[in-house]
Amino acid sequence: MCGIVGYVGTKRQAYPILIKGLKRLEYRGYDSAGLALLAAGGIERVRAVGRVAELQTAASGCSAHTGIAHTRWATHGGPSDINAHPHSDENGDFVIVHNGIIENYQEIKAELTGKGYTFSSETDTEVLVNLVAERRKTAPDLLHAFATALREAHGAYAVCLMDKDEPGVIYAARMSAPLIFGQGT
Ligand code: GLU
Repeated sequence: MCGIVGYVGTKRQAYPILIKGLKRLEYRGYDSAGLALLAAGGIERVRAVGRVAELQTAASGCSAHTGIAHTRWATHGGPSDINAHPHSDENGDFVIVHNGIIENYQEIKAELTGKGYTFSSETDTEVLVNLVAERRKTAPDLLHAFATALREAHGAYAVCLMDKDEPGVIYAARMSAPLIFGQGT
């Protein structure tokens, strides 16, 4: 199993905390890693096949107080930069990291493809973030869209989601998979 890390704060930089978290998760095994930082200029997303150290080489580590990160163990689509997390919806509004499997992703993908969505990766995860984007069109807010999408997605998973317009917020959910929330210094 892979690992996910998220951080929301006010004073401390997210980047070193995410990298430290990813390194603590390395023992679980993984084939690629990635992170997304919600910075003043928008979302910086970096992904790399290989070790967290290679991700550090690729990342600028820009100033941000909100971020999510991931070590991937591929289940849908081979190890590659394109299949590595975080994944974004096609408009770049939302980014997601996901641990586990969305069992019915092919049915959801078919529905979204029918609506004109295109996908750059082979993952079940990219399907989920685009389902959230689609449900956001009719939901009153992102929380409802996220919950609606997750009710439609079957499987065992933990996910963290960020909205480019909501600094200081990470949406998180789990189903038959562990996810720990902590508050403090
Ligand atoms: N199913 C997702 C993928 O293949 C997540 C795999 C994992 O848990 O790392 O990208």
